[in-house]
Amino acid sequence: MSPPANFENSMLGRKFRAGILGATGTVGQRLVDLLAGHPWFELTEVAASERSFGKKYCEAVNWHLHAPIPSAAADLIVKNLEPSLDCDFVFSALDSSVAGPAEEDFARAGYPVVSNSKNHRMSPDVPLLLPEVNAAHLDAIPVQQRNRGYGSGFIVTNPNCSTAGLVLVLKPLADAFGLEKMFVVTMQAVSGAGYPGVPSLDILGNVVPFISGEEEKMEEEPQKLLGRWDGSRFIEAGLGISAHCNRVAVENGHLECVSVSLKKIATLREVREALRNFTVSDELAALPTAVKNPVIVLDEENRPQPRRDVNAGNGMAAVVGRVRECPLLDVKLTLLSHNLLRGAAGTALLNAELLASRGLLARSRVPTRDPAAAIPMSQSAE
Ligand code: NAP
Repeated sequence: MSPPANFENSMLGRKFRAGILGATGTVGQRLVDLLAGHPWFELTEVAASERSFGKKYCEAVNWHLHAPIPSAAADLIVKNLEPSLDCDFVFSALDSSVAGPAEEDFARAGYPVVSNSKNHRMSPDVPLLLPEVNAAHLDAIPVQQRNRGYGSGFIVTNPNCSTAGLVLVLKPLADAFGLEKMFVVTMQAVSGAGYPGVPSLDILGNVVPFISGEEEKMEEEPQKLLGRWDGSRFIEAGLGISAHCNRVAVENGHLECVSVSLKKIATLREVREALRNFTVSDELAALPTAVKNPVIVLDEENRPQPRRDVNAGNGMAAVVGRVRECPLLDVKLTLLSHNLLRGAAGTALLNAELLASRGLLARSRVPTRDPAAAIPMSQSAE
């Protein structure tokens, strides 16, 4: 399926208006930056905590990017989480302590919500979306709207930052050979903890072998991402997964050492070819943020490295190296992906572009028809 031929022309002068909840945070700032000059979307609203409420964005934010604050964002007044923003849809980059109910409030009020937060990822009718891997899971949206009594609103989530790059690499292997088991050890950048994140005295010259909740997410989320939607529920992939997660003194980019066992015997050459030949569909290739080959395979024996490779494919690619035999499982490799782009803001933007191209972003909002009938998502997700 491709966007209609005249899709981009139909956008001219009438871009979708985007809001960002959590716009002042690490992921929110990346979204603000990515939306500057976007061909389909314009940023019209920013929201954050009471600390930032009522200030100009440029005064509320502690801006970390090298590029200056985009002029379209600098003078926006930061709103709170009241679901009455002047926009067609919202990105959520909220702290998980507030994201759950806030995202439901916006969906109930008729806003499509494109979330980075963990709260609704595993809910039984919420797509956990990585477009190159499971675009078909968007078929769950009408079921979610029916279950919750939503009008035009819904919630779509993207995976945890270390899961995104991992599953992008597992997908072509699953398609070509089938997957049985996977063992992964991560070395995760400090920007993955938001700002100010891990105290410098804890991380400089050190490795912290614990990231709260991260191993559980890495063991759960790939099951949903690589599974399928059967029309009424998600069927998990049934893959055996063990994850070890570590925080290291790197600014951006999560490095992961992965061993996999395959259902079908494959040579190392066949594995490298399956990874190199992973190309996206025409539908995805037409999206502004997509890269045609989302997995890049390097042959150098000491790559990928965060400092050198984190921005490959505009930060949207997973970079793989050191593909070799594993004496315990079948194949082992090292992969790297940008935790704030591929692992958060970039995938959220790609998700929104896919929603737009499929006609799932409306310009007029329809709130919940019968608020009394709408089941809070947190209850029905049990
Ligand atoms: P962050 O830097 O700590 O930013 C958190 C944002 O949430 C800020 O805009 C903050 O606003 C807002 N916020 C906090 N408490 C609030 C409240 N009570 N009411 C309204 N807004 C509130 O965190 P982050 O790293 O950007 O992460 C954002 C979300 O994305 C989290 O759920 C995180 O788990 C997820 N995520 C992060 C990464 C990553 O690599 N960092 C990757 C994938 C997913 P103020 O500035 O006004 O306090």
